[in-house]
Amino acid sequence: MNEFRRSKELFVRSQDCLVGGVNSPARSYSPFPIFMEDSEGSKIYDVDGNEFIDYSLAFGPQIFGHRHPRIKQAVERQLERGWAFGTSTEKEVELAELVSKHYSSIDKVRVVNTGTEATMSALRLARGYTGRDKIVKFEGGFHGAHDSVLVQAGSGASTHGAPDSPGVPRELAEKTIVLPWNDKEKLKSVFEEIGGEIACVIAEPVFGNAGCIPPKDGFLELIRDLTSDYGSLFVLDEVITGFRVSMGGAQELFGLEPDLTTLGKVAGGGYPIGIFGGKQEIMKHLSPEGDVYQAGTFSGNPVTTAASIEAIKLLKEDNIIDKANRKGEKIRSKLNKAVKGLPVNVEGISSMFSIFLCSEEINDYGDLEKCDFEAYKKFHREMAKNGVYLPPSQYELCFISYVHSDREIEDTVDIASDVLEKVL
Ligand code: PMP
Repeated sequence: MNEFRRSKELFVRSQDCLVGGVNSPARSYSPFPIFMEDSEGSKIYDVDGNEFIDYSLAFGPQIFGHRHPRIKQAVERQLERGWAFGTSTEKEVELAELVSKHYSSIDKVRVVNTGTEATMSALRLARGYTGRDKIVKFEGGFHGAHDSVLVQAGSGASTHGAPDSPGVPRELAEKTIVLPWNDKEKLKSVFEEIGGEIACVIAEPVFGNAGCIPPKDGFLELIRDLTSDYGSLFVLDEVITGFRVSMGGAQELFGLEPDLTTLGKVAGGGYPIGIFGGKQEIMKHLSPEGDVYQAGTFSGNPVTTAASIEAIKLLKEDNIIDKANRKGEKIRSKLNKAVKGLPVNVEGISSMFSIFLCSEEINDYGDLEKCDFEAYKKFHREMAKNGVYLPPSQYELCFISYVHSDREIEDTVDIASDVLEKVL
């Protein structure tokens, strides 16, 4: 059984100098976070020398497994030549060409450093392009930690959002309309009411931050139709699904043509990245071609672009997505079989899944209330004690890489069913 003595000591120390002892609240969980220090393939290692099969995979990017030798070499080659120029480089051009080759809705991109920056800039561009201020997002949809999208759900068809965090101006939050995911009628009635004021609808194609919740038939197509009819833009947030569910993301899988796409996570091969892009007609409004301002010292930096180019080539050459998808199917079906009779529901698509501690199907954010969050905390800790690292909350997705072995999947399923028997 793993013990976490040194993590506990480090948490005492980190609480004196980091807010809540962490650099991102998603890493904070009770009784204290496990401090990691090493990784290889499907495994991650903590400061106490414990080994874990990793299903968090850095909250998504590591579909390649940790420390893939080709990405490592690409980064090392770049380090020999420098890691920050603040100038144009050939690699930026190569990366932009690769992205637009795989995403037919994208002519031009801007590369930034995080998914947050990508969605923030895409929303500004949508507002600048349409000359409208209002945006629509969905309850429980997460698009990063910036003001316009840090707005929690209100109920009712045209409820204007209230800030989800102190510090977000109410006047700005009121420009964000929050609707229930998968509710076609509410979406239609908002457009009928104020469609001419809506700059864009932003949506994750598959919910990934309220567990894994796929769209109902025709829901994304309805967003496409309504935004086109009313002169609004459809911003598809593929920060999780891009280069994961297929090379061309969920838009390729579902046959969608968004106006703007945001990418991140897998696209950087594990290095911090965000990308947004779309057709030239819209992108030309971005500075320096247009007057919608966006800039960044580290945007398209040489190390990230080196990792990203290699990662995208690797995904294709090694058929990584198909391999990871098969692992995803395997772990979902084995887990569901193993927990029959328990109030547990394993859902997901592709190489992502959620272990919902509840017996009913989860179709939207509101359904999550039916899950047992206290039990999940115990489940998470007990799994870690037994050498399996899961994301610390039921809201977060589990990810599987193409290097997780069948043996590791079997072991994980055995451990999970024993632990769930105990904690439920
Ligand atoms: N969009 C989605 C769909 C995300 O899942 C996330 C992060 N979990 C973001 C945007 C923000 O990305 P980042 O954490 O890189 O800023």
